Amino acid sequence: MDNKKIVTQRFRRRSRMGRRTKEMTAIAKERMHILFTLAERESVENKNLPRAKRYVELARKIGMRYNVRMDRYFGLLVCRSCNSFLGNSASARVRTLGGKIIICCKNCGRVKRIPLRSKRTRE
Ligand SMILES: [Zn+2]
Repeated sequence: MDNKKIVTQRFRRRSRMGRRTKEMTAIAKERMHILFTLAERESVENKNLPRAKRYVELARKIGMRYNVRMDRYFGLLVCRSCNSFLGNSASARVRTLGGKIIICCKNCGRVKRIPLRSKRTRE
């Protein structure tokens, strides 16, 4: 009995560590995309902000575990400090000022500034 326990524990510990194969990251990306689209739907259509936030949290956790970055589109719509989805007017204030888009999270007050003419687009 004891021997079996040790074996399963070792297996469990190993399953989270080590190299991430291509299949693993592909599945992680897919899962994150699904969760972000769900978050978008909850935020924009159903106005259920806590649920959208929960979806974003789960997606970010998956991303951290498998070293996968957010899509650029969703990266702009997520608050970095409280994980709120900034997709509608109830959760974010969006203005332009001095050649920048300024997105203010209404939940925690974090401000995000996105330059309209970045170095990448000028090239
Ligand atoms: Zn926030």
